[in-house]
Amino acid sequence: MDSFEQRLGEELTQRREQGLYRRRLTLDSAQGPLVILGGRQYLNFCSNDYLGLAAHPRVIEGFRAAAARYGVGSGASHLVCGHSSPHHALEEALADFTGRPRALLFSSGYMANTGVLTSLLHKGDHVFQDRLNHASLLDGGLYSGARFRRFPHSDVAALERKMEPVDGLKLVVVDGVFSMDGDTAPLPELAGVCRARDAWLMVDDAHGFGVMGPTGAGSVEAAGLGPDSVPVLMATLGKALGTAGAFVAGSELLIEGLIQQARNYIYTTALPPAVAAASLVALQLLHEESWRRQHLAELIDRFRRGAAQLDLPVMASVSAIQPLLIGSATQATAISDRLRQRGLLIGAIRPPTVPAGTSRLRVTLSAAHSEEQVDTLLEQLALCWQEPKGLHG
Ligand code: PMP
Repeated sequence: MDSFEQRLGEELTQRREQGLYRRRLTLDSAQGPLVILGGRQYLNFCSNDYLGLAAHPRVIEGFRAAAARYGVGSGASHLVCGHSSPHHALEEALADFTGRPRALLFSSGYMANTGVLTSLLHKGDHVFQDRLNHASLLDGGLYSGARFRRFPHSDVAALERKMEPVDGLKLVVVDGVFSMDGDTAPLPELAGVCRARDAWLMVDDAHGFGVMGPTGAGSVEAAGLGPDSVPVLMATLGKALGTAGAFVAGSELLIEGLIQQARNYIYTTALPPAVAAASLVALQLLHEESWRRQHLAELIDRFRRGAAQLDLPVMASVSAIQPLLIGSATQATAISDRLRQRGLLIGAIRPPTVPAGTSRLRVTLSAAHSEEQVDTLLEQLALCWQEPKGLHG
């Protein structure tokens, strides 16, 4: 290979040929069930704005008021002078909501996961991860230098076998709700194994926080587990809360350890204070408006019943993520394109985000959708499923 240009060119051609080329959409509107793209309105079923809070007037007002008072940029990292009252208030509210002594904000979920794993784990420790964990968890495990083992998806017996011969500090890491499959981790069983083997359990609840559990506190609450069973809880603010950033909740010792050691915390500019203030409003809405979770649960049920009637290959999921398994990357893209032509946005998820041969349409539902919109989705899916092979096979 003579040059970077040549290599990049070849890599891109290969991606195109394999149906793996990715393109960004440029939206001209806020997030919501209806979005504007290239001057046309689309029904949006690919956002993680599960509770419909990303453009909620009160969240926007919280942002606006805080921007007027604190400005836009935080100005520095948290440990210099970037940590302000809205950050602090949000951390306290998140700790309270998740029933843990403390919480710590990170600028993104990717940074929180890599920050926690690289701080907590040292060389010689052991980290066990579900093979379908989010990329940021897998990357953090690799960067940490600990001995890294993956176990087959949600296979607790296989995890136990891998843990058995191992001495030393052990951390088991899973998504609470798996981001591309929508299914939930077997948290009670995992907590049992961790207890028996003296390991810590870390849960990334990016897709469960705000949605799962009687009060929306997430997958750990839904599983009926207390904080002691899951010493490290991470969740993002950019999904159900509709804002941006992430947090880690746990013991005093864990949080102080992260403040002192997590390079992804120490060496980066703090989130804008207005984002923290807006997140605090979103958290209040989550408490006040439980109808959002209720409505979302009804829509999930409606979609699943409709998809089953239409014989659509809907995957086993109780969450807002309702993927339809297709297999071939080219075909997933083709169906996604057909839906786009009909005015629906649904992302085709392909390798390396998901294993080869399991490309899918990742349908996501939101409390902001109406029943009629879900019915439209089902009608359009049925139409697009009738001919995809003939047209695009
Ligand atoms: N964990 C999971 C399970 C996720 O799905 C995501 C984002 N898609 C992240 C972590 C990263 O969060 P962020 O987008 O805030 O970096």
